[in-house]
Amino acid sequence: MFCSKCGTQIPENDHYCPTCGEPTFTKNNVPNESDRTAMFDPEDAKRTNILSALCYLNFIFIIIALLLEPNSKFLRYHINQSLVLTVFGILCGVVAIVPFIGWIVSAVGAIACVVFTIMGVVRAFRCEAKDLPIIGKYVIVNYN
Ligand SMILES: [Zn+2]
Repeated sequence: MFCSKCGTQIPENDHYCPTCGEPTFTKNNVPNESDRTAMFDPEDAKRTNILSALCYLNFIFIIIALLLEPNSKFLRYHINQSLVLTVFGILCGVVAIVPFIGWIVSAVGAIACVVFTIMGVVRAFRCEAKDLPIIGKYVIVNYN
């Protein structure tokens, strides 16, 4: 089996391309394309789930986590999600410069940030790698 996007050979039973992360699922057999849990080693996830969850709470934990587990892909996945969430949070603050409409967008965004943070923490703790809604598909830190 070869990746439809980049042409890399994909090991049998793998759900994602090891090079570019393109899913191998067809539309029929995947209930939720944003669930990347199968991409990661379950042992890696079990070892780094608490560190991964902490990364959503404070930037300092990202630095600590990277020092403790520099090779964990599961951890890097959650660091990426938390950084994307941080950028989203900054953008939500910036739009508040625009009177009225910006304030409303900013307020909605702030609520979304809180909800997404809780989702990230819970999923990391449960050893899951599910993309956050809307913003989860963006990549700042490569985790493949
Ligand atoms: Zn590929």
